Amino acid sequence: MIELNAISVNFSQGKAGATAAVDNVSLRIQQGEIFGIVGTSGAGKSTLLRTINLLQRPTSGSVTVNGVTISDLSGSELRRARQGIGMIFQHFNLMQTRTVAENVAFSLKAAGKSAQEIAQRVPEMLSLVGLCDKADVYPSRLSGGQKQRVGIARAIANHPEVLLCDEPTSALDLETSAAILVLLKEINQRLGITIVLISHEMSVIKTVCDRMAVMTQGRVVEEGDVFDVFAAP
Ligand code: ADP
Ligand code: ADP
Repeated sequence: MIELNAISVNFSQGKAGATAAVDNVSLRIQQGEIFGIVGTSGAGKSTLLRTINLLQRPTSGSVTVNGVTISDLSGSELRRARQGIGMIFQHFNLMQTRTVAENVAFSLKAAGKSAQEIAQRVPEMLSLVGLCDKADVYPSRLSGGQKQRVGIARAIANHPEVLLCDEPTSALDLETSAAILVLLKEINQRLGITIVLISHEMSVIKTVCDRMAVMTQGRVVEEGDVFDVFAAP
């Protein structure tokens, strides 16, 4: 369902000694799976993840999501394709001057949903992530785990096929991280949303992912079922 074909990203193209942040990576991610990408800081995980929704345009290579080569798109076509791809972040990226409900409503408005649909969808999403009682609260009053739940509600409000997770638990304590990973697994299983998750922590990948890739210096050096990769000598 997601095909990354020979993706390279070079931030300092043409400069002497420039190395690629992502170096000729090809990956196939299947519909309905949770795919993990693990690697140390600077390995290129975040840059690669961002090519999937074109927050980062690859220097070369192509990205196909659900049969649409989104790396060929721009403008309104790209905006429409992005609605099928939700994203959550390490530091949540919530709008601080808007309430929880307004944060979730924002992505629905941006997708052109009617006021009626928004009024129905927002409480539905907050219920799904267990935040029904926080609709009118501002993000600054929430715990880290609650903020990430808002991030998840916002990311899946438009019923995307894909959810991209950029270090989703790295700013959270162990117990809160575990609860967020359970929620992501539920979203994957109950809603059938394909998840791509990057983390520098093996334990996170091991807990939730079906298949995984290991990145080092912009390259994928290992790929396979999580069970097999961890069983390897
Ligand atoms: P990871 O997510 O694995 O920590 P990143 O994808 O964030 O790795 O970074 C990969 C490399 O690309 C690093 O060397 C980083 O400094 C560089 N890089 C990332 N984003 C940019 C950018 N916007 N401009 C220049 N260099 C960048
Ligand atoms: P974090 O370090 O918490 O993971 P990021 O570095 O991933 O945060 O976020 C980088 C920037 O991308 C932020 O300034 C954020 O506002 C922007 N951003 C987040 N989501 C989107 C989106 N859907 N479209 C465009 N820009 C976005």
